[in-house]
Amino acid sequence: MRNIPFFKPDIQIQDISSVSSIIETGMLVQGKEVQQLEQHFQEKTKANYAVALSNGTATLHVMLKSAGVKEGDEVIVPAFSYTATANAVELCGATPIFIDIDLDSFNIQVEKIKEKINKNTQGILVVHEFGMPAEMNPLQTLCKEHGLQLWEDAACALGSYYQNKHVGTFGQAGSFSLHPRKAITSGEGGILITHDENLFRKYQSLRNHGLDSESETMNFIEAGFNYRMTDFQAALVNSQFNRLEQQLERKAAIAEYYLTQLKENKFLLPKKPKEGKHSWQTFHLLFHSIDTRNKAMQELRSIGIGCGPGAQCMPAQTYYFNKYRMNAPQLFPNAWKSQEAGLAIPLYSKLEELDLMYITDKINAL
Ligand SMILES: *Cc1c(COP(=O)(O)O)cnc(C)c1O
Repeated sequence: MRNIPFFKPDIQIQDISSVSSIIETGMLVQGKEVQQLEQHFQEKTKANYAVALSNGTATLHVMLKSAGVKEGDEVIVPAFSYTATANAVELCGATPIFIDIDLDSFNIQVEKIKEKINKNTQGILVVHEFGMPAEMNPLQTLCKEHGLQLWEDAACALGSYYQNKHVGTFGQAGSFSLHPRKAITSGEGGILITHDENLFRKYQSLRNHGLDSESETMNFIEAGFNYRMTDFQAALVNSQFNRLEQQLERKAAIAEYYLTQLKENKFLLPKKPKEGKHSWQTFHLLFHSIDTRNKAMQELRSIGIGCGPGAQCMPAQTYYFNKYRMNAPQLFPNAWKSQEAGLAIPLYSKLEELDLMYITDKINAL
């Protein structure tokens, strides 16, 4: 029997020495390495500005707060995502308005958004779920027509493109996570990108207690947060950056292997994007029933294959259910189905050929 974890970051010895060399300097908090990391993201995404923060939930929070999202406001989000997406809206005191997803992409159903727009709607927080680029053109048009702001939760989407542009650059800002489950990792970490200089200044200020980033004296212009990243965390991820392209290619090759080798008897395979590029952050099977998913999950785990649900039907989570009392299976049948019958399987660059053969054999034999 093999023992294949659900996820495993690709940390190499040179990454570790890069971290220790920063620790040895004694300059531990936000400094040169953080700046270098921001530059890497700017170059990769072609955004004008990038700001590193302590995690991908902090980036979502700062992104919405800087856009003026506050109590009484509504923000449209997909019903299926990692719960941090809706939590960020709640953290601003606003209300997430859930929209069901499309089962081909696991992304928001754009045509269902319009009927939910009203005078309190501030904008749309779109998610590129599992690294699948969302349909940005119709979303941009909709936002323009209704005077809404557009934000991107691109936590899973470093290396994802819509048409020929990196995701995170279509709305006013894009948010990325550097959690160990994502493509490259700082342990905990997040990045905000934007083309807007004023927002860039706000992000810098809010991550650092509300300090005016332009002022020579200590002038605090807002009640900000401490959402700074440490320099040794930035060093860890900077050191992985020169392997990023190679890693993304390896992940795409593994996805291709699964797509050709796995048989769609008990589940549907994920689709490729119509236009653009999938980062293959997560490979998500959609079983035909809850029972078959649960049985498969148990069986695979018992033979050493790490796997689990891919994301949550957020309105069905205890906090959201208690607050909004929505009948999620009825209102968001696709998001509900994805939570209950979806299964993410291992996909990371450290998987070996033997692992891949083992995984496909066992899944095909379910
Ligand atoms: C991982 C993830 C987040 C949260 O990122 P953290 O760095 O763990 O806070 C938010 N949204 C989505 C879609 C994610 O996958």
